[in-house]
Amino acid sequence: MENKGLLQSRELYQYLLETSVYPHELQPLKELRDVTASHPWATMATAPDAGQLIAMLLKLISAKKTIEIGVFTGYSLLLTALTIPDDGRIVAIDQNRDTYEIGLPIIRKAAVEHKIDFIESEALPVLDKLLEENLNHEAFDFAFVDADKLNYLKYHEKLLKLLKLGGIVVYDNTLWGGLVALPEESVAEEMKAGRHFTIEFNKLLAADTRVQISQVPLGDGITICKRLH
Ligand code: SAM
Ligand code: CA
Repeated sequence: MENKGLLQSRELYQYLLETSVYPHELQPLKELRDVTASHPWATMATAPDAGQLIAMLLKLISAKKTIEIGVFTGYSLLLTALTIPDDGRIVAIDQNRDTYEIGLPIIRKAAVEHKIDFIESEALPVLDKLLEENLNHEAFDFAFVDADKLNYLKYHEKLLKLLKLGGIVVYDNTLWGGLVALPEESVAEEMKAGRHFTIEFNKLLAADTRVQISQVPLGDGITICKRLH
């Protein structure tokens, strides 16, 4: 597999996958990874090593109700659905249903579709709609955000209202291919906006006393935030 992450050594990444990740990866996830591999946007899918960390977090907090922003073909969604209990629920949001449908037959075969409420939409209005109902306030255990970087701060404010105290939100791509640490002039034009939003987002997260954070240099950088207040 191509080194999708920030780890400099391809061999070391391969070692990590083969030793610790692939032996535990569930069959439906392997299948979904295979189906996604031929898609032109395949690199968007969550890497299996990042998936392993997400599954660990879900288990550690016994997550039952979760939110997923950015589904694509559904690797992290299926992983969540396979990890939470049978009566668990996932609100899964993506503005593109077509890519979700690529993974849907595998989700169905794995018998976890009943845990998923897929909503084809921009994510912000869906979060606003959830917040209109009081019963959704502080009701979710976990959220995974892997969509448009421009809106991460807005997602953060809304998710902190939806998450229980002690709940966890994980943000993906928070090291933006390592470009956050490079001078702007050395960065390709099409990567500049993402770099800018990611730098601003990381600064705000680091200063946000409502959450405990851990910035993990796994995949493209993952920030784990636990709601404290
Ligand atoms: N987590 C996914 C996985 O494991 O394969 C990968 C998600 S992919 C990196 C990003 C997804 O976010 C795309 O499918 C895209 O359609 C969706 N997206 C981008 N901007 C969005 C928005 N504003 N609202 C909802 N979905 C959005
Ligand atoms: Ca991502």
